[in-house]
Amino acid sequence: MNLREFWVATKIQLSRNGVSENSIESELLIRCSMRINKEEFYASLSDPISNLQKHQTDQLIQRRLCGEPLAYILGHREFYGLDFFVNSNVLIPRQETELLVETILSLSRSISADNLTIADIGTGSGAIAIALAHQLPEAIIFATDISTKALEVADINRRNHDVAERVRLLHGNLLEPLNTPVDIIVSNPPYLKTSELTHAAKEIKREPTEALDGGIDGLETINGLLKKAPSYLNNLGHILIEISPEQLKKVIQICRTNFQSSKISSIKDIQNLHRVVHVETTD
Ligand code: SAM
Ligand code: GLN
Repeated sequence: MNLREFWVATKIQLSRNGVSENSIESELLIRCSMRINKEEFYASLSDPISNLQKHQTDQLIQRRLCGEPLAYILGHREFYGLDFFVNSNVLIPRQETELLVETILSLSRSISADNLTIADIGTGSGAIAIALAHQLPEAIIFATDISTKALEVADINRRNHDVAERVRLLHGNLLEPLNTPVDIIVSNPPYLKTSELTHAAKEIKREPTEALDGGIDGLETINGLLKKAPSYLNNLGHILIEISPEQLKKVIQICRTNFQSSKISSIKDIQNLHRVVHVETTD
């Protein structure tokens, strides 16, 4: 059997088991097990594949068929143009979360703070904090998480991207580990309802519950964060929180309760869905 025939067979296997992106997934799994890049893969399609190579790839395919997310098997995922190490202790960074990074980058052009300080609450793999540190070479970013195992992953990523000095990892509940107020608070908190998580796809159930479960109404963490946020924010500060689009009204209400005289708005993602809530304090 040559590599092309093996690739076709794995595609069919994945497709029969409901994996929609079976072509790219099988290519990535084969390349991962054979440790070859894209060019090498396409250059070797007519080469025979050994029993050992076949066996090693089959093991990865089996893991995928059992519902393990592709990113955990490959051990990495791209976010905002950077490659992040991931394992089952962290949420796999989502493309829609790049909107938080983009929004802060455009805000940072109009903020006159000399040493911009940002707090990424619930940093997980460190994706948001590290992407921001990479783009904003003067900024200091505090990155908190309740999970020490997630912070270990974020630590690997901040070193891999050479921003370990400016991304300060802090363990604890929400904003509590911060010693000083910051200019911007950003968070992609857990916001799924517990019941949504119960019915979620098997891949999502492999991600850490504490990364996704926002309680009965999905708003527990957002509520806790916004309640405490006023005392952790500098004057003329900003809060940016990722939400589930249908939570918009309720999240705006929570913002209004905690920030009476602030500007509150929402930002839509590329699918035209309300994905980010923005609070801008005026004094
Ligand atoms: N920021 C990462 C991203 O966008 O890919 C991960 C976001 S994940 C949805 C939420 C993260 O918040 C998880 O890493 C979880 O451990 C953390 N978390 C949950 N509750 C928390 C709390 N009360 N305080 C701090 N972190 C919390
Ligand atoms: N967007 C995520 C999902 O797929 C939820 C992320 C979160 O709770 N922050 O399901």
